[in-house]
Amino acid sequence: MKNHKLLLCLSIFIFSIYSCSEEEIPEIQEEIEEVQEPTIVDKSENRHQMGSWGSQILTDTKYRSLLIEIGYVEGFKPKDEALEKLKEFLEGRINKPDGINYILHSVPSSNKAPFDREDWESIEDEYRENYNSEEELAIWIYFADGGKDDGNGGVANALGTAYKNTSMIIYSKELNDWYSDKNISIGLAEANIMGHEFGHLFGLVDEGISPVSDHTDPETTGHCITENCLMASGKNYSYNQQDMFLLDDYCIEDLRSIGGK
Ligand SMILES: [Zn+2]
Ligand SMILES: [Zn+2]
Repeated sequence: MKNHKLLLCLSIFIFSIYSCSEEEIPEIQEEIEEVQEPTIVDKSENRHQMGSWGSQILTDTKYRSLLIEIGYVEGFKPKDEALEKLKEFLEGRINKPDGINYILHSVPSSNKAPFDREDWESIEDEYRENYNSEEELAIWIYFADGGKDDGNGGVANALGTAYKNTSMIIYSKELNDWYSDKNISIGLAEANIMGHEFGHLFGLVDEGISPVSDHTDPETTGHCITENCLMASGKNYSYNQQDMFLLDDYCIEDLRSIGGK
């Protein structure tokens, strides 16, 4: 009898341990999942100064591929021609053996036009989804439904702005308005301006890369003196061309000095 009681007690004890474990394990797992769900996105490597990351963009030393994320306001999606031309241009200059890829998605209008730095940084913070990962460098391009704030409540004479080490804004509404009656496709104009802003992200001219030869435009910061170079100032407003503007030998020499093709 004594033995029976002991056995009963023991089995209740074992059963309660067992049933406890059965119930508690899933709860613990759920809690862990809940804590881990909002993955901590490390944005720090995408918040450096503009032009200071030329070698990371141009070489495969750390980043073997390039991801270009384009957030566009409805109605301002870049043309396929622009994406093809830009990719072709980048493939000719940067070393990314694992490729250059795009992700495009629409974003709601911020209703903040004309935009200043605070605007485009807060828009990026809200809508940018991709940041640098282990071997992939991510670029953010925002196609905006308005122009650049000229500081006096008006619209500045600009079609794009590169800022921080991997970000740019394209003033797509301004670009569409400007080129609507010109003898050049919108896609080509978009490719030009994105290529030009990439030039600033590379660190051209003398905005991150020390020029190998002197070709800095004394009149505007970050531009090249060669008239037909992609990095010449005012190229954004050209309207009679058959193909994308290219970099001249001076600019290519600069890119090569930090690992570009
Ligand atoms: Zn420029
Ligand atoms: Zn140049």
